Amino acid sequence: METITKQKIPFKHIADSLQENFDIIAQLVEITGQRWSFVCGRKLPENVFAVPIRIRINKHTGIILYDTKANNSSKIDYIKESIIKIANRLDNNQQISKEEIIEFLTTKDNDKIETLFFWADVVRRKYVGDDVHIRGIIEFSNYCFKNCLYCGLRRDNKKIHRYKMSIDEIFNTAKKAATLGYKTVVLQSGEAMVYPIKKIAELIKKIKQELNLAITLSLGELEYKDYEILQKAGADRYLMRFETTDRELFKRLKPDSDYDARFKRLYWLKELGFQTGSGIMIGLPGQTPESIADDILMFKKLDLDMVGNGPFIPNPDTPLKDTNGGTLIDALKLVALTRIVTLNAHIPATTALGTISSQGRQKALHCGANVIMPNITPREYRRHYMLYPGKICVDENTSDCNKCINAMVLCAGREISTNFGHSLKK
Ligand code: SAH
Ligand code: SF4
Repeated sequence: METITKQKIPFKHIADSLQENFDIIAQLVEITGQRWSFVCGRKLPENVFAVPIRIRINKHTGIILYDTKANNSSKIDYIKESIIKIANRLDNNQQISKEEIIEFLTTKDNDKIETLFFWADVVRRKYVGDDVHIRGIIEFSNYCFKNCLYCGLRRDNKKIHRYKMSIDEIFNTAKKAATLGYKTVVLQSGEAMVYPIKKIAELIKKIKQELNLAITLSLGELEYKDYEILQKAGADRYLMRFETTDRELFKRLKPDSDYDARFKRLYWLKELGFQTGSGIMIGLPGQTPESIADDILMFKKLDLDMVGNGPFIPNPDTPLKDTNGGTLIDALKLVALTRIVTLNAHIPATTALGTISSQGRQKALHCGANVIMPNITPREYRRHYMLYPGKICVDENTSDCNKCINAMVLCAGREISTNFGHSLKK
């Protein structure tokens, strides 16, 4: 018993995930010589017959699996391999390699993909638990001076109706979020300062004092002193995706941003004490499995508190209108690999994922995600914040969105968090 309790094997999480995803019953055993003795786990029901599948984790510890519905024979080798990897990696703090990431990104083998999701689900259970954090997003302005090739808010897009919400409207929307029980609001906009920084700072103070909400900002690239003002006013977190680690691709896609300047800002944000989030889109033209693997490893290098990724969705009013965009499976692989690499970062099941597939966000909750960001922008503005076409929940009202999200979380067997959901990094 002593030898087993010393192991850092997250047996309960492995067993729960196996049962939920594959109907496999797992038992932890102690190995002494030839003897495999039961330590803990579920017992096989009396009327069920299944052949025991033995996995030796190390000298003294093993796991026995029972494939109760006998429907996993094609993937059982991958499952065994995954369990050994999970156990050994968490034990020795061993990282997933770039080659392995590329292999998962490129594989078309469904059994292998399913076991990747299982692995990510175990890591999610162990490091962030069953709570799902809800962050209400307020898209308060769609003005933008930048011209990112992929984005519908780019300055050259003359087809969209530009708007900015008044400061009072933003506050009242945050108030609505608080009434619904949300603990965080995210204020997002295009990159154009539609209000002086002091006004935004006053708004932040008021939301913090009167509504007691955590505040995340996503306003793009600002000057150091502006970030400092926002942080001093009480903003807790900042989201800014770096979009890609490939310099050339970055330059092509974001013609008026500078690669080093964007990364420098992520370090500034961390230095200023913001809980910092970043991420990428998957499916951009010019991306490669190598560059995506570098992006995923960059999440680790930056030691991010939050990582939000989603599929690229081509927008007909942009230069990338004729490209393919990201697929559901690639976007889910990205969620899973991000969880495996970052361990305890907060990872949303993004709206873009929900846009390319009606089940996208639910699926993401099963392969690593632990955050949902419902759109709480007032209806009259929502349709104009068109980063990409077909965005979900454009016509729903906020209370309906709330019901739908509650149902989604409960169906996934999870719970809505009642705390702020701050960073889990030390
Ligand atoms: N202006 C800020 C925040 C708003 S844009 C910024 O650029 O940081 C928020 C995110 O929307 C971007 O980081 C980008 O990854 C995503 N986005 C833009 N266009 C998109 C598209 N066509 N498909 C999917 N995501 C898109
Ligand atoms: Fe502007 Fe952000 Fe869209 Fe780029 S991604 S055009 S900075 S809103």
